[in-house]
Amino acid sequence: MIKAFKGTSLVDFPDEIACVLFTGGCNLRCPHCYNKSLVEPEIHSQMEDIPVEAVVSEIERRKGFITGCVITGGEPTIHGKELINTLRKIRATEIKIKLDTNGMLPDVVKQCISENLVDYIALDVKASPEVYPQFGGSWENLEETLNAIRDSGINYEIRITAVPVFITPTTLELIGERIKPVKTVAIQKFVGRNTLEPSFEEIAPYPPDEMKKLAEIMEKYAEKVLIR
Ligand code: SF4
Repeated sequence: MIKAFKGTSLVDFPDEIACVLFTGGCNLRCPHCYNKSLVEPEIHSQMEDIPVEAVVSEIERRKGFITGCVITGGEPTIHGKELINTLRKIRATEIKIKLDTNGMLPDVVKQCISENLVDYIALDVKASPEVYPQFGGSWENLEETLNAIRDSGINYEIRITAVPVFITPTTLELIGERIKPVKTVAIQKFVGRNTLEPSFEEIAPYPPDEMKKLAEIMEKYAEKVLIR
């Protein structure tokens, strides 16, 4: 399940110095995805699994320095029980845990929350509802996950990557109406590099002033809006 490990990150877990675990495999196919190696089975199946025991002992060794651990992918929740068992083992180190998810598997996220296995969740919202089937996804599942996160009171953020094809002022209004009210929204700059669908590499990201306009739209729906 764990395909890569990064010892230190200052940017992946708000207010924490964190290690990052990358899991292989994903249940979506977003054309703008730049994690090809973790999404395409023919690539990640060739990568060796890192045993959770090795990760846990590394966390224990570095605990004075790092304060958190981020589980990202790919999509971590596709690993279901294996993810839960991994989180239980990491939880035993008493380090803070952040889960990144696309929200397609609400039951797994609910279990993470009900077992108190995560301290922070970053939930991706990729496009307006009618576009989700293009990625192989379901807006209804995303909504179920968001409701579970919001109802739980856990700390969370919604991440929206500003891919100009999918995120425009109009679609952002639609998204905002469907997800409101939310705590924190981070609007992330699109980087068209090594994308799943090669033509997306030709798409220019929004310039800073357009990113600011997108953030202003989201301010109607979220308590706090960040631009990354
Ligand atoms: S962007 Fe995320 S959810 Fe979409 S295919 Fe890539 S890893 Fe999966």
